[in-house]
Amino acid sequence: MTKITRMQLLRGDLKGEKTLFRPPWALPEEYFIDYCTRCNKCVDACFDELIVKGRGGFPQMDFKRGGCDFCEDCLNICPDNALKKVPTNVIEKEFLPPWQIKASIDLSNCLSMNATICRSCGESCDDEAINFTLKLGGIAEPELNVDACTGCGACFSVCPVQVISLRSIVLDKENHQVSEMS
Ligand code: SF4
Ligand code: SF4
Ligand code: SF4
Repeated sequence: MTKITRMQLLRGDLKGEKTLFRPPWALPEEYFIDYCTRCNKCVDACFDELIVKGRGGFPQMDFKRGGCDFCEDCLNICPDNALKKVPTNVIEKEFLPPWQIKASIDLSNCLSMNATICRSCGESCDDEAINFTLKLGGIAEPELNVDACTGCGACFSVCPVQVISLRSIVLDKENHQVSEMS
């Protein structure tokens, strides 16, 4: 019988297979579960209503509603430091990125690759991480620059055929990768 961890129990994830994305600047999952008191102030703070009360009462992102503009409202209202900017260079005031999320595109089912004009993902990307390259036969292929992608999720919500996915690298207390979720 598979052992259920404390983290799974708190998250209401008994099968260990639930995928979720925490709000930006969330501590690594094990710390987040400890620090977050489920007050859900971040849920109320997000003007775009991107944060929802998820399994176990913990907040999580719903990227179907749109992309995050990293306004920091959720970060600033969190009273428990469950959302917290982690400095990498105090003097230069540099911090870890808000999360480790990246988009990816399933080109086989992309409209633009199948003779239908669509540029929705590229037009929604403020970071210009998706650019279209003309290929033989007049096909325009969306190309994702992973380094430029902030994982904001804007492209995910606008793709009319849902061929864009988001992946998150989950780290434990020692900053080792626990899993990749999509
Ligand atoms: S940074 Fe702003 S837009 Fe993004 S989840 Fe937080 S409150 Fe919402
Ligand atoms: S998730 Fe990445 S590719 Fe998609 S809109 Fe945001 S920055 Fe651009
Ligand atoms: S929005 Fe979706 S269907 Fe349209 S070009 Fe981008 S990946 Fe393809």
